[in-house]
Amino acid sequence: MKIIMLGAPGAGKGTQAKMIAEKYSVPHVSTGDIFRANIKNGTELGMEAKKYMDQGLLVPDELTVRILLDRVAKDDCKNGYVLDGFPRTIPQAQVLDEALTKLGDKIDYAINVDVPDENIIKRMSGRRACLTCGATYHIEHIPPKKEGICDTCGSELVLRDDDKAETVKNRLDVYHKQTQPLIDFYSEKGVLKAVDGTLPMEEVFAAITAILG
Ligand SMILES: [Zn+2]
Repeated sequence: MKIIMLGAPGAGKGTQAKMIAEKYSVPHVSTGDIFRANIKNGTELGMEAKKYMDQGLLVPDELTVRILLDRVAKDDCKNGYVLDGFPRTIPQAQVLDEALTKLGDKIDYAINVDVPDENIIKRMSGRRACLTCGATYHIEHIPPKKEGICDTCGSELVLRDDDKAETVKNRLDVYHKQTQPLIDFYSEKGVLKAVDGTLPMEEVFAAITAILG
């Protein structure tokens, strides 16, 4: 079972990816994690990627796909995997698709965790963080006992720049421009499945397991 997770930043696809990985006993493959592992272990692919990163350049799609294929060729991926964070663009999806086709392989499901922008902005701008101990809260869902104060260490809570409505809106614009076309790409391949990501986490997961069986 080879799965790609699609969804806007803040839609909760990472959480769902982890839950799928656990239930179906397949690895949760996050490109960020694989990059870090390859660089840390000093692999040939890792060193090649590092050359670009050290220059502040984006790692070429072709190299990212090679690193990804190297990861999914490992034993623990023989029953499948959940890809999280890749592909993000059409060129990346095409490179991945060609590489898998060459191996006689393909993606079985592209799961789109669908959440309207307004909901994401509301979710993110309700977040509060403690910069002292790293605890996180949400004014509606996980409020601190005393408004604006960290339960754990008593420090003042802040709205991080990353969670501000303006920043979130900009990220969503980039997402729609780059990643939304992927939804059409996987739809044409007949593997796209959408779930309503506005539901509580457990219900989103139930919808996903109904699809995966
Ligand atoms: Zn704290």
